[in-house]
Amino acid sequence: MQQVFDRWDEFRAAVATRSGQRGRPFKDAELLAPSPFPRQSIGVGFNYDSHVSEVAGNMAPPAGAPLIFAKFASCVSGPYADIELVSDTVDFEVELVAVIGRTAINVTREQAWEHVAGVMVGQDISERCVQQQASPQHSIGKSYRTFGPTGPWLTTIDELPDPDDLSIECEIDGTMMQRDRTRSLIFDVSQLIAMLSAMMTLLPGDVIFTGTPSGVGALRTPPRYLREGEVLTSSIEGLGSLSNRIVRPTSFGKLALSWRPELIK
Ligand code: ZN
Repeated sequence: MQQVFDRWDEFRAAVATRSGQRGRPFKDAELLAPSPFPRQSIGVGFNYDSHVSEVAGNMAPPAGAPLIFAKFASCVSGPYADIELVSDTVDFEVELVAVIGRTAINVTREQAWEHVAGVMVGQDISERCVQQQASPQHSIGKSYRTFGPTGPWLTTIDELPDPDDLSIECEIDGTMMQRDRTRSLIFDVSQLIAMLSAMMTLLPGDVIFTGTPSGVGALRTPPRYLREGEVLTSSIEGLGSLSNRIVRPTSFGKLALSWRPELIK
């Protein structure tokens, strides 16, 4: 897939000449992450008004610029991958994820969508204790193995009547937890790409998790975190749905939550 993103324009042109031909049928369970090994995976925090309002009691809302963190690429997983429950404070965040299709350096807002290969559904799974400890660890708390489900496929922008206004929601075992529209993004996809590409080079295949609306577990009363055996379903209008089961971890070390370097031998 990385080679497809590296030659995205060529790929699109080749596919266009084959219109009318259908791909082979597939089973949902066969699908993996559309960009499985992005060179960069970027997260955006505090990017829906509804979410900023629910957080506002604890933290100041952003002033003119979004919170950016690394959601390290090794956490990216597929649309039906299990999510490992590394603690009892693992939270959900449904997000629109943009995948870069052309190297972006200093692109304007107007040029930004031309640099996007497509969009997909994502979950910015977050271990809240690590994320919000005294010395906050956004990047690590959101980058545990299995913490970045994406998919179920990449939708190109021409498939969407308005890529900036899609319903977005997530459910746990059929109970609605988050619901909004992407037009409520404070910094939309074009603005994020313009801002990011002014500072860093965005590369084909890179993923940008654009932020989550209100309803996350940590900010509910009482808090509502993910539990073993539950199924998290995340959907965006026109982009499909992820379905991820919450499982006991198979690959989790005792030190993984403490983040205390003095304990590491
Ligand atoms: Zn997030």
